[in-house]
Amino acid sequence: MDERITPEQCIFCKIVKKEAAAHVVRDDARTLVFMDLFPAADGHVLVIPKHHAINLLDCEDADLAAIGPLSRRLAKAMRKVFAPDGIGVFQLNGAAAGQTVWHYHLHLIPRRVGEPMHLHGRAQGDPARLASNAARLAEALEDAGKEADPSRPTRSEAQPNEGRNARARAISEREGPAELASPRASRASRSSRGIRRGSGGRSPRPASRSRCALPPGRRARSTPPCRP
Ligand code: 5GP
Ligand code: ZN
Repeated sequence: MDERITPEQCIFCKIVKKEAAAHVVRDDARTLVFMDLFPAADGHVLVIPKHHAINLLDCEDADLAAIGPLSRRLAKAMRKVFAPDGIGVFQLNGAAAGQTVWHYHLHLIPRRVGEPMHLHGRAQGDPARLASNAARLAEALEDAGKEADPSRPTRSEAQPNEGRNARARAISEREGPAELASPRASRASRSSRGIRRGSGGRSPRPASRSRCALPPGRRARSTPPCRP
């Protein structure tokens, strides 16, 4: 069930290496958190290990051990920023399960009562919205870290501009203008970045087609299900 791609072909490895753009929420030695480019709901984020692993089956124990507590802190930050009714956390393994990018990633998706449940988004997120969500989550995550460690000052105790610095850091980490503005731009940029269909990134689906709730018809990147 695994799809063998090399780290050189992997879009998430390219994001780690800053060869591809992303709206980064947090960057540490072992993990990276960034906004999903095609959010299933406003605030949809991905947590990945920096080390390339296809999915849960080959992800290193130490990476999983780091991702667990980080995802909980991120969920708390998400609750603070978006006040959702719930938070979906999921991770897909293999094409049959709906995995489309062959680098381990954990999805965290704010959920609201009454909204249809989608595992994947249908359209690329608005770049300004993705940037602002990344900055707000980064700041809340930083605060959550301080609350977990009482020796560090919380934001209310800190210098008044500390929050702004966190936001500025998050914004400077993204390559905002380079983040893709339209599906067409996305395709052009992917091609200019040498990312082939099936090599790890994915293209948007038409608005009429739901990427929700697998199956029916949900297929892996290696067999693109539709042409935009
Ligand atoms: P999967 O189907 O493998 O569980 O999820 C892959 C996720 O990665 C999807 O939600 C998709 O929107 C997201 N994604 C695919 N390519 C990119 C990209 O280039 N940048 C970002 N930020 N997200 C991506
Ligand atoms: Zn990778």
